[in-house]
Amino acid sequence: MTMHDKDRIILPGSTIGVLGGGQLGRMLALAGRQMGYRFVTLDPSPDSPCGQVADEQITASYDDAGAARQLAERCDVITYEFENVDAEVAAMLADRSYVPQGSGLLHTTQHRLREKRTLQAAGIPVAPYAAIGSAGELQREIKRLGLPCVLKTATGGYDGKGQRVIREAGEAAEAYESLSRSGADLILEQFVRFEREISVIAARNPRGEIKTFPAAENIHEDNILHMSIVPARVPETVLRQAERLAVRIAEALQVVGLIAVEMFLTPSGELYVNELAPRPHNSGHYTIEACRTSQFEQHVRAICNLPLGSTDLLTPAVMVNVLGEHVQPLMDWMAAQKAEDPEVSAKVHLYGKKEAKPKRKMGHVTLLAADPERAFNWIQSAGIWENKKTLLAKGC
Ligand code: AMP
Repeated sequence: MTMHDKDRIILPGSTIGVLGGGQLGRMLALAGRQMGYRFVTLDPSPDSPCGQVADEQITASYDDAGAARQLAERCDVITYEFENVDAEVAAMLADRSYVPQGSGLLHTTQHRLREKRTLQAAGIPVAPYAAIGSAGELQREIKRLGLPCVLKTATGGYDGKGQRVIREAGEAAEAYESLSRSGADLILEQFVRFEREISVIAARNPRGEIKTFPAAENIHEDNILHMSIVPARVPETVLRQAERLAVRIAEALQVVGLIAVEMFLTPSGELYVNELAPRPHNSGHYTIEACRTSQFEQHVRAICNLPLGSTDLLTPAVMVNVLGEHVQPLMDWMAAQKAEDPEVSAKVHLYGKKEAKPKRKMGHVTLLAADPERAFNWIQSAGIWENKKTLLAKGC
């Protein structure tokens, strides 16, 4: 980064380009338009979730250099809402426009092995792991790391895709066979018997100011985030430690914009960083209503080099995802016009996706409730989610 970037401020009235037109881009544009920014998004599907609320959409594939050039020409600053941005496109955008987030962080977080090595070099605790280049190496590393462990593709995986838990040595060959087929590098990780999964989102602007959002406790179902509970139900010391780790990562990686840090908390109170995402994160959607500044507004502030907003929590909240199979029950619940429980405010967000495929993220509901138990009861009684994990969160 040059001196120039450190002092460069992008003011409202300017145009922000968003590579990717999904829900994260949509909520980013909604927050940024409120502040007076204009938005252009690039996405292959016409009428994308972000395109619906942006000033303009360029409909083209992400690796279409001509379309990326158009985006660069129309925008004063460019950001992205997913991390698998083509390296060549990222370099071209940086050349022709202003990409304050740079391409180094993307390069790191696009590859699990690079990410783990970078974290380790910064003194951040990660679960023991090994790079796997052959079936024989997998057998050797399983002996070293112990069972169970998790074999993952280093690139391209999300929501549990591209990973296999190996519980017995006999399962290794099949796991190797199926994951190595993609041609991606592989990583083996020790399975962490975590007590809770938490995440902290940090924001950093080019001037180096850093702020963290309150940690969310995350509950996954089939490797997809089901709900986030805030404040996370962990000791205060763990919350402070999680925030410190997120700040250290934001500093060490010279982040600009947001960095979401997913962590495992072990029964003995240790935190291991599992994964980073250099963008707004599903576990931060609660901030829209529950914090003084949302993660989306904060991202806009950070990339535009404005002062970061307060991240104070205004109210405890539980966010629950609406997947394809939950849309019709949610509509039925809305049509039933039930009176609102004065203790639980339900804020419905839908992303404007036409096809409600099973497991596809279609929206989320944030429940603002002083007592999380009331939010869990709401989730159970609404008839939208039939989810054992909600009961587990309740401690049933
Ligand atoms: P990831 O794609 O790495 O975020 O993994 C998705 C989910 O799989 C995590 O949120 C965990 O619930 C689980 N998981 C991933 N890696 C591990 C691990 N090393 N030990 C235990 N659980 C894991």
